Amino acid sequence: YIVVDRVCKSFGPQPVLREVSTQFRTGEVSVIIGASGSGKSTLLRAINRLEPHDSGSITIDGVPVGSDEATLQRQRIAVGMVFQQFNLFGHMTVLDNLTLAPRRIHKTPRGEANVQAMALLRRVGLQEHAARYPWQLSGGQQQRVAIARALAMRPQVMLFDEPTSALDPEMVQEVLDVMRELARAGMTMVIVTHEMGFAREVADRVLFFDQGRIAHEAPPAEFFGQPASERIRAFIGRMG
Ligand code: ATP
Ligand code: MG
Repeated sequence: YIVVDRVCKSFGPQPVLREVSTQFRTGEVSVIIGASGSGKSTLLRAINRLEPHDSGSITIDGVPVGSDEATLQRQRIAVGMVFQQFNLFGHMTVLDNLTLAPRRIHKTPRGEANVQAMALLRRVGLQEHAARYPWQLSGGQQQRVAIARALAMRPQVMLFDEPTSALDPEMVQEVLDVMRELARAGMTMVIVTHEMGFAREVADRVLFFDQGRIAHEAPPAEFFGQPASERIRAFIGRMG
């Protein structure tokens, strides 16, 4: 589905992505791990063209990302993104957060958008909170709203950039549970995370980023069971 082919990206003199090539296939859950500054977020942002890459190509179903404005808009609908910071619209209720984009972009009538939003809120366990504002929710609840909001656009792929890193420890599991459920339902997912237990359990493949390169890739049992290098062993050890 998403094909990344020899993608390079530098910020000034600093190379951040160095000939990154990989594929994210339909229905697959890919977990990206690696040290701070190794280029994980930059890759996710490049897939959405929040950050244009310098060379190489990224295609979604064979179409280069952002080949023109209309294509980019379609691709951004197809690729949902959830960040560490939830970025909810603070002046809107939870329900309105979920229905805004479907109404504006898909032109979904309000009633229908509300019904779909309520179904999504039920899915993330927040149907009781539809009328609340983001500031009335815990961090874990806000992140679940952010996931539901992304799902409201009916994306084909979901990108997650450290979705639990800003959360208090007791709220991490409720967000991981929602992601686990999404994976079970067959969603194509690319997840940057430090949650090794989650990676081991949910990933189809684990990618290890090191200094702008995919240094290693393996199914989780192999990745964690027989670490391919001392560097990876040390990284896993540090992350618990
Ligand atoms: P972390 O685990 O800390 O989130 P990361 O693997 O996501 O790290 P990136 O955010 O992709 O790393 O950043 C890779 C490198 O690119 C870092 O050295 C970072 O400082 C640099 N960088 C990222 N964005 C920019 C930017 N907009 N301008 C300049 N440098 C940037
Ligand atoms: Mg990052």
